[in-house]
Amino acid sequence: MLKGKTALVTGSTSGIGLGIALALAREGANIVLNGFGDAQGPQAEVAALGVKVAYHGADMSKPAEIEEMMKFAAAQFGRVDILVNNAGIQHVARIENFSIERWDAIIAINMSSAFHATRLALPAMQAADWGRIINVASIHGLVGSAEKSAYVAAKHGVVGLTKVTALENATTGVTCNAICPGWVLTPLVQKQVDAKAAAQGISNEAATKQLLGEKEPSLQFTTPEELGSLAVFFCSPAGNNVRGVAWNMDGGWTAQ
Ligand code: NAD
Repeated sequence: MLKGKTALVTGSTSGIGLGIALALAREGANIVLNGFGDAQGPQAEVAALGVKVAYHGADMSKPAEIEEMMKFAAAQFGRVDILVNNAGIQHVARIENFSIERWDAIIAINMSSAFHATRLALPAMQAADWGRIINVASIHGLVGSAEKSAYVAAKHGVVGLTKVTALENATTGVTCNAICPGWVLTPLVQKQVDAKAAAQGISNEAATKQLLGEKEPSLQFTTPEELGSLAVFFCSPAGNNVRGVAWNMDGGWTAQ
């Protein structure tokens, strides 16, 4: 379905971003990966699906590096047809104890990076009259949780940015939507499970059960594969008139 298209997925060396990149590659899209850590493994996984793959290590907290990455992607594949703004980090502390440096980093990586990548991707999408921008927000783009001030603020911002991007392009073939996962067992969440286990002196398994039980009625993690399928839907012809939504995949978290 996406043969000949190019998808750039930020923060795709791991977790949800990698899951979405693989799902888009399975549909034939060429992929530009981004993120820290091992890039060779993810590149090989994508290449094994028979599509072209490139990698750029831009730090998504730095606008100049984001600009370089967008230029790199255009030089590699002509243009970016699908932009997935996914890179993100977490930090957990009460507001009065929240480090200023962590606040700034979360706002830059989880929110402002989506603005920068979007503003740089839009002109080519508008010229082609086709484009898909998918913002990986979070259930924390819709509701709050204690001790996650920067994350919740950034994700609410991403949901707002999604709506404005969708509206400004509403009469064109460029759509923008957000995905709002509940708990997904990636390194980002594993750290929170480990911290819970350590703080309470309980096993990893008990901490996992508690984490899910507090918020997610299904008591199941959403998987990167499931989120990848939702991203594919947004890119499909059936997604043509889905514009500006914040779509939960949250095991019933926000139905309560
Ligand atoms: P992860 O830690 O597995 O992956 C994060 C990715 O972002 C990695 O590839 C990492 O290298 C990259 N990254 C981090 N800082 C970066 C930077 N400055 N520049 C470039 N890349 C950077 O985490 P994940 O759970 O897959 O999270 C992906 C997205 O999904 C995040 O935006 C997160 O907020 C969101 N999310 C996660 C969950 C969850 O339960 N895991 C739930 C809702 C939303």
